[in-house]
Amino acid sequence: MTLRTLDSLGSLAGRTVVVRCDLNVPLKDGEITDDGRVRASLPTLNALISQGARTIVVSHLGRPDGAPDAKYSLAPVAKRLGELLGKPVAFASDTVGDSAKNTVASLTDGDVAVLENLRFNPEETSKSADERAAFAGKIASFGDAFVSDGFGVVHRKQASVYELAQALPSAAGLLIAAELDVLDRLTGTPERPYTVVLGGSKVSDKLGVIGHLLPRVNTLLIGGGMLFTFLAAQGFKVGSSLLEEDQIETVRGYLAQAQELGVELILPTDIVVASKFGADAEHEVRPVQSLEETPWGASGLGLDIGPETASKFAEIIRESVTVFWNGPMGVFELEPFAAGTREVAQALTQTRGLSVVGGGDSAAAVRALGFDDEQFGHISTGGGASLEFLEGKSLPGLEVLGWQA
Ligand code: ADP
Ligand code: MG
Repeated sequence: MTLRTLDSLGSLAGRTVVVRCDLNVPLKDGEITDDGRVRASLPTLNALISQGARTIVVSHLGRPDGAPDAKYSLAPVAKRLGELLGKPVAFASDTVGDSAKNTVASLTDGDVAVLENLRFNPEETSKSADERAAFAGKIASFGDAFVSDGFGVVHRKQASVYELAQALPSAAGLLIAAELDVLDRLTGTPERPYTVVLGGSKVSDKLGVIGHLLPRVNTLLIGGGMLFTFLAAQGFKVGSSLLEEDQIETVRGYLAQAQELGVELILPTDIVVASKFGADAEHEVRPVQSLEETPWGASGLGLDIGPETASKFAEIIRESVTVFWNGPMGVFELEPFAAGTREVAQALTQTRGLSVVGGGDSAAAVRALGFDDEQFGHISTGGGASLEFLEGKSLPGLEVLGWQA
């Protein structure tokens, strides 16, 4: 079976359509710092508007604790969406309460409303399928059809991703269809050499995928927060850097597996070590063997790959024909620790074939560092989702739309 696409829902004129978008944008002091995910949701929303549908957008933002938290309100995102669509967008201050009901009731053909953060409700991410289904049922009662377009969450069995797609006639939106088109080219028979670059801070999420990627790639480059678990696995001290101690054994297994398979798993040789986490931190470059030999000793922390590592990674990336990159190489948000990410991004713009950037923060990083989307083969809106797709896993949010891995 293949993915059910938008046209499988028939004419949507005058019908009320619930759309699951991934509007999980980075915010700083209530301002959106990268609106890439809002922009990525436009093709589907514009298609629905031009058909004369009544559109209800649902999304999560951040990781609130299953209760309302002003810090994670979608209000600024709804405002930005209105600017980008060039029309007013209504906003409901709850997800399935009175505000949502009234907002939905006030929609006329061609209108768009955004409901408040799905994750203000504990049922959205509940482990209980019944709880999720009950919550999905409440959202489903607002509409006649469901369009799933939040690619960044299709690897999650959550109410708005999985149960909601079962509760209404459902199909994938244009973003999901476009993402799958590109990622499909990376599975099966990617042109070689094929290099995957991993970094970022969701260490435990991402370490898990390495075992599945190893048999598929020629080279795996490790930077970002996860590199310290690898260094620890080799017996190096990592000071106060990000470390997943309970993953050290697993990581040793990956190192052995890479050797058996003849895959190059390349770790940094130098690190930018900082006195503390902050733009005003003191910092110096150290070889990985002596990360704690700075004036800050064991309280020093690695916040970027060093220049020697960055050049080596860049060289490998430039010589690859297929490259997938997920996760910044360092804390790129702070200028002193942005160089590694910048050099890797630059190299991706120079590969000989297909370059794909995946992950919310990675996409934000390339834009913040001044690159244009067009310089890359594709910028994916999903980090975890694209990684799991590349592993060859069947993703619940795609399966429920008819997709078979
Ligand atoms: P993505 O959203 O692209 O999948 P993640 O969410 O996993 O990426 O990680 C992004 C974050 O990782 C960035 O905010 C960046 O500051 C952080 N990061 C990168 N390297 C380090 C490091 N060495 N220590 C702490 N945080 C890091
Ligand atoms: Mg992220």
